[in-house]
Amino acid sequence: MATVSSLTPAPSVAVVRVESAPFAEHAYVVHRPDRSDCVVVDPGFETGDLIDAIVERGLTPAAILLTHGHSDHIAGCHAVRRRWPGMPILVGRDDADKLVDAVANLSAAFGVAITAPPADRLLDDGDQLDLAGLPLTVIALPGHSRGHVVFVLAGHPIVVLGGDVLFHEGIGRTDFPDGDFTSLATGIRSRLYAFGPDTVVLPGHGPPTTIGHERIHNPFVPAVD
Ligand SMILES: [Zn+2]
Repeated sequence: MATVSSLTPAPSVAVVRVESAPFAEHAYVVHRPDRSDCVVVDPGFETGDLIDAIVERGLTPAAILLTHGHSDHIAGCHAVRRRWPGMPILVGRDDADKLVDAVANLSAAFGVAITAPPADRLLDDGDQLDLAGLPLTVIALPGHSRGHVVFVLAGHPIVVLGGDVLFHEGIGRTDFPDGDFTSLATGIRSRLYAFGPDTVVLPGHGPPTTIGHERIHNPFVPAVD
């Protein structure tokens, strides 16, 4: 049974977080409080609970946004798109292969070959998206996976849908075949720590955090080397 939580990271944005076993991965359903369309970020393994959470709130997804292609973040793509056919799937250009390759997305190593439908749109650094009334900017942040991106939602405060880059007092693993600690640390310092201290990060695992907290307390990537 997934754990479903409602979050309000900023007054202008409502978020439903669905935490799936077995990796405690977070899918996020993001919408404006005054609208019924939404985006689904990183649909994980427990798709029944995710779909129920969307339907119970009267929401309709406009797109699936993927921070990266690891299997725990893409496992729900098929089921969500079966429920809402035609919905586009967006992923960072250099992680597109992981959607259709169970070795690349690490699921084959666990003995369960997970795939997703191929991507409908490949994202690059700086891309601007306007989905469900949400102004989102794409930032490429490699290091946990080569094609990892984060989605930056403009507002007060700014909200970052961060995937497996920056966690509450932690960072994403960099020991995978296309991982690289130096790229990850450089990206966090130059791209994420550049945001104001009240910027909220909703990570792929663990509790929400802020840029201000991580600049001071992150033991892996201090604000100054
Ligand atoms: Zn990952």
